[in-house]
Amino acid sequence: MTRSYKIALIKGDGIGPEIIEEAVKVLDAVSYAEGFELKYDEYLLGGAAIDATDDPAPKETLEGVKQADAVLFGAIGGEKWDNLPREKRPETGLLKLRKEMEVFANIRPVTVYNELVNASTLKPSVVQGVDLIVVRELIGGIYFGQPRGNDGNKAFNTMVYSKPEIERIARVAFDIAMKRSKRVCSVDKANVLDVSQLWRDTVEEIAKEYPEVTLTHMYVDNAAMQLIRDPKQFDVILTGNIFGDILSDEASMLSGSIGLLPSASIGEKFGLYEPIHGSAPDIAGQGIANPIATIASAAMMLRYALNEEVAAGRIEQAIKQTLSEGYRTQDLSSYDAKEVCSTSEIGSIIANY
Ligand code: ATP
Ligand code: MG
Repeated sequence: MTRSYKIALIKGDGIGPEIIEEAVKVLDAVSYAEGFELKYDEYLLGGAAIDATDDPAPKETLEGVKQADAVLFGAIGGEKWDNLPREKRPETGLLKLRKEMEVFANIRPVTVYNELVNASTLKPSVVQGVDLIVVRELIGGIYFGQPRGNDGNKAFNTMVYSKPEIERIARVAFDIAMKRSKRVCSVDKANVLDVSQLWRDTVEEIAKEYPEVTLTHMYVDNAAMQLIRDPKQFDVILTGNIFGDILSDEASMLSGSIGLLPSASIGEKFGLYEPIHGSAPDIAGQGIANPIATIASAAMMLRYALNEEVAAGRIEQAIKQTLSEGYRTQDLSSYDAKEVCSTSEIGSIIANY
């Protein structure tokens, strides 16, 4: 029996449809080569959904994605919908989708492609050999904690984590570390915050289930500094919602272009895979968007949702090969480009390795 999987595709707005098309091209090539089958169902979210149904997160999408083995998502949003009331905006649709799928772990690998390091005109500079993953808790902590409020005179939010919430995100980080260099650095503010002390104690307990993994702890202020000072010291960074929000954006800039980095948001049952960048309306429809972040997200989908590790590795290798031969989209044209290619040319080159 051939292995067969159902993928929910959400193309979204702006460059979303262009970059998803390239990811599908690459997925089709690698699944054919590795002997499994992918079936796609398309769903609407964000601006495209508003235009078609007057709802940024139609019921059909929220329910449909649960029938799939994984969701591959482009990007949403654009000026056209910016003046709508908050509950009608594209971004609200995405938050609803994440909540509905209960994706509590946000995983962001930051890879510096050595193929870009030797480029003569580096802008911005990248650090050779960086290869880390930020594992951020996504649906708890101070962004969601109760009580919260603002009476115009006094305002407050509450950072809350329960032990089970910490345990499940810690296991995600340790499981990932087991497939890598087996090092987890847990980031908190345990010198000041009680919630961080529970975080630290709980992570210590989970670490006992993974004797091969080395666990260290770091205060968040120091972690922010260390990411700039010596980013190569990190393998897996495990942290809560707000610290992870800040550190993952900081870490992403180590790589050179926002168009390169993928992400996965996973829960007990579902997984959502998307580039870290937005819908880039300023370059939509011109065929110049970099599809690599989305193609790398598709590789993460194969690895984490479908357990197709070999195929995932093939895609990652093909991306490296493409960059090492000097093929670049416009955003990377100053990194020793041999040839500046369109979105679809880069997709085809990667698909053909
Ligand atoms: P969001 O709020 O959805 O994160 P944003 O406006 O903050 O969106 P992006 O849409 O990510 O940011 O775009 C930021 C800049 O990066 C834009 O100038 C955009 O053209 C560029 N950019 C984003 N993604 C890509 C890509 N894949 N290839 C090339 N350039 C990109
Ligand atoms: Mg943004």
